[in-house]
Amino acid sequence: MSEFLFDFDMKTPGERIAELSALLRKYQYEYYVQSRPSVSDAEYDRVFDELQELERQYPELMLKDSPTQRVGSDLETDFAEVVHDIPVLSLDKTHSEEELLNWVLKTQRNCGGSEFIAEEKIDGVSIVLTYEDGILVRGATRGNGFVGNDVTANVKTVGSIPLKLTEPVDITVRGEIFLPLAAFAEINDRLDVPYANPRNLASGTLRRIKSRDAGEIPLDSFIYEGFFTGQEKLKTHREILDYLKKLGFKVNSRIAMFSTGDPEEIKKYIECERRDRASLEYEIDGLVIKLDDIEKRVGLGYTGHHPRWAIAFKFDAPEGVSVVKGIDIQVGRTGRITPVARIEPVVVSGSTVSNVTLHNQDYVDMLELAVGDRVCISKRGDVIPAVEGVVEKNESGNTVWKMPSECPVCGSVLVQDGSHTFCRNTECRARVKGQLIFFASVGQMDIETLGSETIEFLVDKGFVKRISDLYTFDFNILKDYPGYGDKKVDLIIRGLEKSRGTEYAKVLSSLGIPEIGNKVSETLIRNGVDSIDKLFTLVDDKNYDALTAMEGIGEKTASIIMREFSSPELRDEIRMLRDAGLKFAQVSVPGVPQISDSFHGQSWCITGSFVNFRPRTLAGKEIEARGGRVVTSVSGKTTHLLAGMEPGSKLEKALANNVTVVSEEEFLELLKK
Ligand code: NAD
Repeated sequence: MSEFLFDFDMKTPGERIAELSALLRKYQYEYYVQSRPSVSDAEYDRVFDELQELERQYPELMLKDSPTQRVGSDLETDFAEVVHDIPVLSLDKTHSEEELLNWVLKTQRNCGGSEFIAEEKIDGVSIVLTYEDGILVRGATRGNGFVGNDVTANVKTVGSIPLKLTEPVDITVRGEIFLPLAAFAEINDRLDVPYANPRNLASGTLRRIKSRDAGEIPLDSFIYEGFFTGQEKLKTHREILDYLKKLGFKVNSRIAMFSTGDPEEIKKYIECERRDRASLEYEIDGLVIKLDDIEKRVGLGYTGHHPRWAIAFKFDAPEGVSVVKGIDIQVGRTGRITPVARIEPVVVSGSTVSNVTLHNQDYVDMLELAVGDRVCISKRGDVIPAVEGVVEKNESGNTVWKMPSECPVCGSVLVQDGSHTFCRNTECRARVKGQLIFFASVGQMDIETLGSETIEFLVDKGFVKRISDLYTFDFNILKDYPGYGDKKVDLIIRGLEKSRGTEYAKVLSSLGIPEIGNKVSETLIRNGVDSIDKLFTLVDDKNYDALTAMEGIGEKTASIIMREFSSPELRDEIRMLRDAGLKFAQVSVPGVPQISDSFHGQSWCITGSFVNFRPRTLAGKEIEARGGRVVTSVSGKTTHLLAGMEPGSKLEKALANNVTVVSEEEFLELLKK
C-alpha cells in the first residue's frame, strides 16, 4: 500500500479513488467547458497520476466512469451534439525521456521494427472537421471522444481552415485550433478580465454563441490526422500529412522522422525543440511521437483513452508555485487602479517573477484570491506572468482580497467604471507622474532628456502639477539641488524647446487622454478633424455620428471622446499648452507627407517579409501617404492584403474572406500609379 494514503488523509483507497475522480471531473469541466481552470496543468496531472497509480494498485476499486479511462469531456449544452465517425481520443503521456525511449523500444518490438514520426504537441483546442465532396460541413469539439459539440459556425471564422478543399473528397480530419502568441498578447490587453493563456482564450472563443464574436479573435490551426475512403492506398502517416497539405489544410512542417528509434537521435530532437520552443509563434506543451506505418497502427489499436501507437512527451509546464505576500494597488496615468500581487520570488521559464498583475477586482474574484494563498504562476512564451489559479488556500483566515474604497496616493474616493476602478482626482500625484512620464516618453513627445526620475522629483517637490507646468516652470531652479548640474538642466530645457515643434497628431496622443492613442488621433486627422478647434466644435455639436462613421472609432471610443473633451479642466490645460507654443493643428497627414489619395477608403493588412520594405512599416507609410488605412489583422472590413514572403495564416484568412491579395511586385506598380 502506498505511503501517502495514510500519511495524507487517512482515507481508505476506495474513498481516495472516489475523491480524486470527483476532483478530476470538476477540473475537467472548468478546463474544457468553462475555459477557466482553477488549478494548474501540473496540479491536474499530479491528481491524475495519483489516481492512475491507485487504480493500478487496486484495479477492483476503479470506478466504471473513471476519468483515467475516458477522454476529459468538453461537452456543453449550448451547442448541438454530434456523434464522431472516427476515434477522437486523448494521448498517453510521459514527462520522462527514459519512459519515452522505453515506449519507443517496446512499440518497435511489438510490431517488428518501424519508423516513428515526431510532431509538436500544439497547446490549443482539439477539433474534428468533416468535409463532404470537399466542402466543410461540420466542425466539432472532441467532446467525450464519442460525442462532440457542433461548433461549425465558429470554426468557419478560422482563416486557415479551408471551407472548400482542392479535391471533392469525403474526409474527416483532426487538428488543433490555437491562438498565435502575438495575437493573444494584443487581445488580452483589451479584455476586462484577461485570459491566463492563449489556450483558454482559444477554447473560450470556440464556444462563443455568436460566430461574429469568434471571428474577432484571429485563431489559427494545424491539422495532423485524416480519415477517408481510399486511405489504404497511403501507407504512412507522412504520406497522409502530405495529402492533407495538398487538400489545402495547414499542416505543421516542423516534424522529424526516426528510422531506427535510436535514443541519441530522439534525445537530440527533444533538445532542439526545447531550445526552439521560446521562439515559436504558437505554444507547444510537448511533442507527440507516432508510429509512421498505418497498418502497424491498426494492429496495435486503442484503449478507451488513447491510441497505443502514439505517446505525448510533455514538457514541464512553464509554471511555478509561490505564495502571495501582499496585494498592492497601482494608480495608472488614466487613474486606473490595478491590483498587483507581490509574491515570494519564483523562477518561471528562466526568469524570476516577484510581481504579477491582477488586472481588476473581477479577475481577483474569478481566482478567489486572498493574501497568503499558494498560487500557480505561469509565464508562457513571451507573455507576461499570470496567476493561473489558487493551489492551496491560506490558513490565516484571509478572505478574498477587496479593492480599497480610497486612492492610496491621494485619498480620493475610487469610482467604478465597468470592470475597472479609477481615481478621478486629476491632481493625484501618481496619475500626474504617470501622465508626465508618458508625455515625455520615446514614441510620444520624445523628450529624452526629461527622465522619469526627474519627473518624480518635480512632482514630489510640487514644482509641476500638470503637463503645461513643464513649459512654464523655471528649470534653472533645479540647479540648486544635488544631481542637477548646469549641463543636465540645459539639456532638459533644450529638450522641451524642441518638443514645441512636435506635430499635432503626436501632441494629441501624448496628452494621455483615454482612448486617444496614436491610431485614434491619426484617424481623426485623416478624416478632416485636423485641429483641436474642429474637435471641440464636433464635441460641442454632440456630433456622435461624425465620429462613429470613421473606421476604427466605435461607439465606446466616441462617447469617451465626447466626455473627455467636454471637460473644462482638459480644455483649460489645452489652452495653456497652446499658449506655450505647442501645435494644435495638423499641417499634413500625421507621420507621412500626403502624396495622393489613390488608396482612399481602402483598409490594408500587411503580412510576410519584403525585399523593398524593411522594416515592413515602410510599406504601411506608403499606404497611408496615399490615404489608405493600415490594420494589424484581416477582418470583414479589410479590403487588401499585402503579402510578402512567408505570409502565414493571414493569407489564408484573406483568401477565405475575398480580400484582394497584392504581391510586392503588384504593390510597387500601384505605388507608381
Ligand atoms: P492532452 O491535451 O495532454 O493531449 C491530447 C491532445 O493533444 C489531443 O486530443 C490533441 O488535441 C492534442 N494534440 C496537439 N498536437 C497534437 C499532435 N501533433 N498530434 C496529436 N494530438 C495532438 O490531453 P487531454 O486529455 O486533452 O488533456 C489532458 C491535459 O490537459 C492534462 O495533462 C493537463 O495538462 C490539461 N488539463 C488541465 C486541467 C486543469 O484544470 N488545469 C484540466 C483538464 C486537463
